[in-house]
Amino acid sequence: MIPIAEAIETVLRHAERLGAESVELSNTVGRFLAEDIIADTDLPPFDRAQMDGYAVRADDVAPTPARLRIVGESAAGAGWHHEMNPGEAIRIMTGAPVPKGADAVQQVELTREDGSGVVEILEPVSSGRSIVRQASEIRSGETVLRAGEQINAAMIATLASFGYAEVKVSRRPRVAVMATGSELVDVNQRPARDQIRDSNNYTIEAYASQSNAIVARLPLAGDNTEELKRMIREAAETSNVLITSGGVSMGVYDFTKAALKELGAEIFFERVALRPGKPTVFARLGNTLVFGLPGNPVSVTVTFNLFARTALRAMQGATHTTLDRDHAVLARDVKGAVDRESYLPAVLRTDENGVLLAEPLKWGGSSDFVSFARATALINLPIEMKSAKAGEVLKIVRLPG
Ligand code: AMP
Ligand code: MG
Repeated sequence: MIPIAEAIETVLRHAERLGAESVELSNTVGRFLAEDIIADTDLPPFDRAQMDGYAVRADDVAPTPARLRIVGESAAGAGWHHEMNPGEAIRIMTGAPVPKGADAVQQVELTREDGSGVVEILEPVSSGRSIVRQASEIRSGETVLRAGEQINAAMIATLASFGYAEVKVSRRPRVAVMATGSELVDVNQRPARDQIRDSNNYTIEAYASQSNAIVARLPLAGDNTEELKRMIREAAETSNVLITSGGVSMGVYDFTKAALKELGAEIFFERVALRPGKPTVFARLGNTLVFGLPGNPVSVTVTFNLFARTALRAMQGATHTTLDRDHAVLARDVKGAVDRESYLPAVLRTDENGVLLAEPLKWGGSSDFVSFARATALINLPIEMKSAKAGEVLKIVRLPG
């Protein structure tokens, strides 16, 4: 049995980088940058008015009211590109370039225009007021986003503004998903006696898709070593990662590991000091990484997110490969394990003082996944912590939405 941290390091060591591809900007949300993003212009690209009003010289309006001759207009997209002289003003709009010679913008509410080509400035304005100077935010050539960052909707404006019509991102991993168990029927079937519907294939598909995987859901596999070997071999030929569920425990019909070993797979680990998820297998068959997750649906979510998600992100060059960590106050007592770290499903909320609370979910029965459906985080109890009391501060990891 190896510690979780060592298991994660092992996964990272064997997760090889996929290549890059250019993708149209509108299809990049969720993908990982494979290039640094460089500003190709200053921001703002020119001295920009922040208000509708008049571009003036602060000195001209020190004593007010001051009467200035309007000699032009600067609008967004159509500036006034001459030098403004003392005693003059330019009518200016938000987003428009401020002309040479002006050093402030007085907002329109503090002015009066009488229609005779003269504006009366009613209040003084200090030099620099309501002007955003060229390059004061970003300088041309500056790196604004780095390779390895995951593109989110908030970054799209940055990519668009600097002309990235196409973005170099890491390729999407091909993931085959294979549920094993002779008791399983597909979601569109009514289970007969002794049968249950498969949920793991769909869970893994959902989570893997969030990590950009192109997912192939394979037909359900029975507990039969020859059948498993054939399906695993075929899946490995067409995928970067194969994720199985079930058949890795100590039961007499648990054949996933046997099938992998008979196929000559290199097994990196097959037991992790983790609750739930101890019998998790990590192996490689040819160039395909194989995760053999336990069958219990809650174990699947925990082990997928700790290990397989990490691999999928590392293969895409992600800067952050593991789940986001935080601390939270335990809202109810929980039990841990002596020989393993626990990752227990929880709902996060904040109390009236703004303190982050982790509410453990009822867990331990065969229908765990129903209460698990509300989980937003996992509470991490260290090894040897047999129990934790309400009020204790513990580590948590956030589950992806
Ligand atoms: P196993 O790891 O194969 O011993 O399975 C552990 C438990 O998870 C058993 O109760 C299985 O019936 C259940 N299980 C296994 N695979 C799936 C699946 N694909 N969908 C839902 N439950 C499953
Ligand atoms: Mg089974």
